[in-house]
Amino acid sequence: MQHRLGSKKIMVTGGAGFLGSHLCERLIDNGNDVLCVDNLYTGTKDNIRHLLPHARFEFMRHDVTFPLYVEVDSIYNLACPASPMSYQFDPVQTTKTSVHGAINMLGLAKRVKATIFQASTSEVYGDPEVHPQSEEYWGNVNPIGYRSCYDEGKRCAETLFFDYRRQHKLGIKVARIFNTYGPRMQHDDGRVVSNFIVQALTGKPITIFGGGEQTRSFCYVDDLIEGILKFMATDDSHTGPLNLGNPQVFSIRQLADLILEMTNSRSELVFESLPPDDPKRRQPDISRAQSLLEWTPTTTLQDGLRSTINYFENSLSGRGTRS
Ligand code: NAD
Ligand code: UDP
Ligand code: UDP
Repeated sequence: MQHRLGSKKIMVTGGAGFLGSHLCERLIDNGNDVLCVDNLYTGTKDNIRHLLPHARFEFMRHDVTFPLYVEVDSIYNLACPASPMSYQFDPVQTTKTSVHGAINMLGLAKRVKATIFQASTSEVYGDPEVHPQSEEYWGNVNPIGYRSCYDEGKRCAETLFFDYRRQHKLGIKVARIFNTYGPRMQHDDGRVVSNFIVQALTGKPITIFGGGEQTRSFCYVDDLIEGILKFMATDDSHTGPLNLGNPQVFSIRQLADLILEMTNSRSELVFESLPPDDPKRRQPDISRAQSLLEWTPTTTLQDGLRSTINYFENSLSGRGTRS
């Protein structure tokens, strides 16, 4: 990649994934050079196909559990499968990606003196006993369950980020991202928003796990990316952890009803057993992000679902769509 004087060279790991592809797009639009590093485990080239011809965009197929030597000014570390189905498929690799991946990217950041962003998760709070979850809460996580490869991997990555900060004075930004949805989610990765929309559009039964009383808050991707960029722009003293998400709460049953209504679907609801350790309630306290970043999510669930439904309608009909 030709590095132009004055432009920032930014690396995004997991850049071919759902969130990563939106982030790469915004960084390119803002005039940066972007190096997208991804092993295409859950991401796809389709997500970044529209960026590939761009002179300031470069894709590198690489697994972050192996060392990487490149010269960059800043790093966004998003590489990690994110849906329960994909992170539980090869749980040992999930922990390696979070932990070895973090060590390698932190080592790289230390060598080139780059600020590094970590995509942490609300899963560090586990099945929380405190509502809503603020950054002070240490969480309620099962260390040996099916979700542990992801939850504990991300918790260990946070530990590494803060130790590199204390030991090596590294510039770090740790964001705890709550459930985020939007165009370019994989249609078959098992997450609730993509599952329900695809089921509704194809007339298949809507699979509600448990009774559907469990709650989540859903953030539209554009709002989240805005929060991430604003966080990265704060001065070095702001390390996080910082919750990023939409505090409005819905039960899974409410989400199903809304998607059925918006798609005019006649799919029936079927109730299946709740996966082990599935958190019963989750809601971010985003007051810290609101005051630090002057940021708050502005997309309603209806508006965000409309564009996500539109995306899936196009991709299921084989037309594909970029948004
Ligand atoms: P995603 O699965 O679409 O993206 C993850 C990307 O990482 C994929 O492109 C995948 O191929 C890549 N990847 C996985 N293992 C890798 C490895 N070893 N080396 C290189 N690349 C690798 O998921 P997403 O929703 O875009 O999530 C992105 C990040 O945000 C993840 O770290 C996830 O934990 C975090 N996050 C997402 C959410 C959400 O609701 N979307 C919530 C909390 C945290
Ligand atoms: N590393 C990397 N790219 C770099 C610098 C380091 O992938 O540009 C890896 C390196 O392989 C090491 C890890 O990052 O395993 C941690 O590096 P650090 O310098 O912090 O620790 P050390 O090499 O002393 O173990
Ligand atoms: N869920 C559901 N039906 C599905 C997929 C998920 O009822 O087809 C539920 C799941 O049990 C959880 C919630 O929806 O309570 C959110 O699941 P998701 O996998 O999207 O994310 P999580 O927040 O659990 O990581």
